[in-house]
Amino acid sequence: MDFRFTAEQEAFRRDIQTFLDAELPEPPDLPDDGWIVGYDREFSKKVGAKGWIGLTWPQEYGGQGRSYLDRLILTEEFLKRGAPVASHWLADRQMGPSILHYGTPEQKEKLLPGIMSGELCFCIGMSEPGAGSDLAGLQTKAEEDGDEFVLNGQKIWTSFAHVADYCYLVARTNPDVPKHKGISEFIVDMNTPGIPVRAVGHFTGAHHFNEVFFDQVRVPKSALVGEQDRGWYQIASQLDYERSGIERLMSNYLLLDAMQDYVRETGEIRRETVRHRLAQLYIEFNMGKFLVYRVAWLLTQGIIPNAESAAAKAFCTEYEQRLAQTASELMGMHSLLMPGSPQARLHGRIARAYLYAPAYTIQGGTSAILRNIIAMRGLGLPPG
Ligand SMILES: Cc1cc2nc3c(=O)[nH]c(=O)nc-3n(C[C@H](O)[C@H](O)[C@H](O)COP(=O)(O)OP(=O)(O)OC[C@H]3O[C@@H](n4cnc5c(N)ncnc54)[C@H](O)[C@@H]3O)c2cc1C
Repeated sequence: MDFRFTAEQEAFRRDIQTFLDAELPEPPDLPDDGWIVGYDREFSKKVGAKGWIGLTWPQEYGGQGRSYLDRLILTEEFLKRGAPVASHWLADRQMGPSILHYGTPEQKEKLLPGIMSGELCFCIGMSEPGAGSDLAGLQTKAEEDGDEFVLNGQKIWTSFAHVADYCYLVARTNPDVPKHKGISEFIVDMNTPGIPVRAVGHFTGAHHFNEVFFDQVRVPKSALVGEQDRGWYQIASQLDYERSGIERLMSNYLLLDAMQDYVRETGEIRRETVRHRLAQLYIEFNMGKFLVYRVAWLLTQGIIPNAESAAAKAFCTEYEQRLAQTASELMGMHSLLMPGSPQARLHGRIARAYLYAPAYTIQGGTSAILRNIIAMRGLGLPPG
């Protein structure tokens, strides 16, 4: 088996590196997890101008028609540098593919060009105070009224709702059927009256998620994506895409490099326990990479990964937590310094990473839920 990339893929990688050398000579002083926290619409527009948003989408819609492996190379290079890609990340990864698959010709025409140019930012309105892992239990209602739907309810943990142009909203359209069967998806213009957004603070100091309220919000019927009441089945495959990218492995990659620099500079590298812990992280990083590459390979074969995505996300996000934990242990008291402190080594990256780390195994499906998927759909075990 040949694991090497092709000459074209290597050339593409160099092209991305050249772009990043010019646009991002230093990693931005952002919390790790730049794909979800690093919002910079101007940077996204530059990525869009390169044709790198919608890389895998069909050329008839303005995409590049390139492979999922090419997209993996692109995202890997962005994450290595901590690039502030959050403004376009969700739309590029999820909303665009959903619109391509389920959207009307009007939705495609209206939204895909703005996503690809990096001008549009989407947020995802799935989770609610009483519906996270049990998403099908959501209570936000969309009731038909003439040519419109009327939305009422509340979402929470909605990353970028405070800056997004559109919300990809999941709401209940039929309360009289089993809960999985009465759900639909909508694209809601965030400027519609009746959508107050309230910030939810994060203890790293970053603000990316919010509470979003829908109070008698009227949207046209054309806001519905796909089939009414069939939203649950649409969401299921979107989550498989959402879970499987290399961002689930490399959110805090900069920490790995920074930690090596630190232990070399301080001479800690000569201690056997330090060397072994770094070596262990290196082994786990490479195992995670194989799991993620396998998912990308399945996608290139036209197979939607399911238990494979769950396995990749469970392993990789737990690795990200071990990386943050190891970094804070190796750096001792230094790791307590927060950003802004003059003595803070690595701009407080360790402290932030440590505080942020619990999120990795929660966002996009908790590790417990992923293990349920692996057990039932991967191994064919009966439900507990
Ligand atoms: C950084 C971050 C960003 C996010 N961004 C968004 C966003 O943009 N949009 C959005 O809609 N949501 C977002 N979320 C929300 C996220 O999807 C939910 O937090 C997640 O699905 C878990 O739901 P919950 O928080 O309600 O926890 P719960 O579902 O209440 O889970 C609590 C605990 O119970 C366990 N548990 C629950 N059910 C089971 C079960 N059946 N078997 C075994 N254990 C179980 C869980 O593993 C967990 O440990 C974000 C979350 C984070 C951390």
